[in-house]
Amino acid sequence: METKSIKAFGTEAAEAPLQTLDIQRRAVQAHDVEIEILYCGICHSDLHTARNEWHGTIYPIVPGHEIVGRITKVGEHVKGFKVGDLAGVGCMVDSCRECEHCKNDLEQFCDEGNIQTFNSPDKHLGGQTYGGYSQSITVDESFVLHISDKLNLAAVAPLLCAGITTYSPLKHWKVGPGQKVGIVGIGGLGHMGIKIAKAMGAHVVVFTTSLSKTDDAKRLGADEVVLSTDETQMAQHARSLNFILDCVSAEHNIDAYLNLLKVDGTLTLVGAPMDPLPVTSFSLILGRRSFSGSLIGGIKETQEMLDFCAEHNITSDVEVIGVNDVNEAYERLLKGDVKYRFVIDMESLK
Ligand code: NAP
Ligand code: ZN
Ligand code: ZN
Repeated sequence: METKSIKAFGTEAAEAPLQTLDIQRRAVQAHDVEIEILYCGICHSDLHTARNEWHGTIYPIVPGHEIVGRITKVGEHVKGFKVGDLAGVGCMVDSCRECEHCKNDLEQFCDEGNIQTFNSPDKHLGGQTYGGYSQSITVDESFVLHISDKLNLAAVAPLLCAGITTYSPLKHWKVGPGQKVGIVGIGGLGHMGIKIAKAMGAHVVVFTTSLSKTDDAKRLGADEVVLSTDETQMAQHARSLNFILDCVSAEHNIDAYLNLLKVDGTLTLVGAPMDPLPVTSFSLILGRRSFSGSLIGGIKETQEMLDFCAEHNITSDVEVIGVNDVNEAYERLLKGDVKYRFVIDMESLK
C-alpha cells in the first residue's frame, strides 16, 4: 500500500525520553479521511503506555488519542466529511463492526478488541498504530467525530478521551438532579467529570489530594471540596453519596471511598493504575454497594458528548505546550501538577 512519511513525537524505549520520529501513514482509502492534526491532548494513558506500565507496549510508540484537526483529504466513498471540516479522533480508530457490542454502538467493548489509536495492530500497514503526537492521521470516517467551530479547539481536544471517559459512566449510572456525586482526583479526567456531572444537574463533591486545587475545584463547578488526606473531612461525607467516579492514576485506598456511598451506591473506576486495588468485603456488603469500571465510550456516544459539551459551553482547562515540553509535562503529571490538561500545539512539530 502507498504510504506517506510524516513527523511524529514518540519513543523507542520505556526509559527513553520522547523525541521526533519519522512514521508512515497509509494513503487515503475509499472510506478514509486524512486529518492535519492541530492539537493533541496528553492523557495519563499516554504516559502509562510510553513507559510500558501496563506492559504490552510495542516500540516505537507514538502516543496521543485526544486529536483535533482539519480534514485535508477524503476518500471517494466518504459521506460525512469534506476537505476543510474540523474533525476529532479519540481512543479508537476501528473495531470488528460485527459483534454484538459493535452493533450496539459499544465499539470500545468489541469482542475482537477495538483497534486503539496507538499501540494496536495496524491492519492496513502491519506493525502498530501510531497516535496523535504527529502531523497527520488517516482514519476510516466511521471513527471520526464532528467538532463544533464555536469552541476553543485546543480546549476541545481533551474531550475526545477525558470528556467521553467521564460522560459515559455518569450517563450510564443516570447521574442527575437530586443526587450527590463524588469525583475523585482532579486531573484531566476528574476536572471534566466535575463539569459534566454539574451540567447533568448533580450536587458535586470533589475529592483531591492537592491543597492547591481546592479553590479551583469550586470554579470548575464543585459544590463541595474535600481534601482526601484529611480524615475528619472524609468522615463528614460517610454514607452520603449516590455515585462516585474514581479518576485516580495511581494506587490509593478504595475502601475509603466505598464507605462514603449510600446503600445501593456505586463506585466506578475509570483510573487505571496497574497494581491491584484491595477492597474489603464489608465495604461492599454493609451497603449493598457496587464497585465497577468503565472504558471510554462508543463513537455514537462520543458525538453525543461533544454535542452536549458544545450546547453547555463545556471545554477543558488546558495548558498548551510545544512537543519539546512533552517530557517535562509527563514528569508534572506524575506529581499531580496539571491544571488540568496539557495539550500539544502540533504546529511545534513542523
Ligand atoms: P491525570 O491528569 O494525571 O490525573 C490523575 C489525578 O489523580 C491527579 O491529578 C491527582 O489528582 C490524582 N492522583 C495522582 N496520584 C495520586 C495518588 N498517588 N493518590 C491519590 N491521588 C492521586 O490523569 P488522567 O489523564 O486524568 O487519567 C487518570 C487515569 O485514568 C489514568 O490511570 C488513565 O490511564 C486512566 N484513563 C482511563 C480511561 C478509561 O477509559 N477508563 C480513559 C482515560 C484515562 P489530585 O491532585 O486531585 O489528587
Ligand atoms: Zn486517554
Ligand atoms: Zn466488534
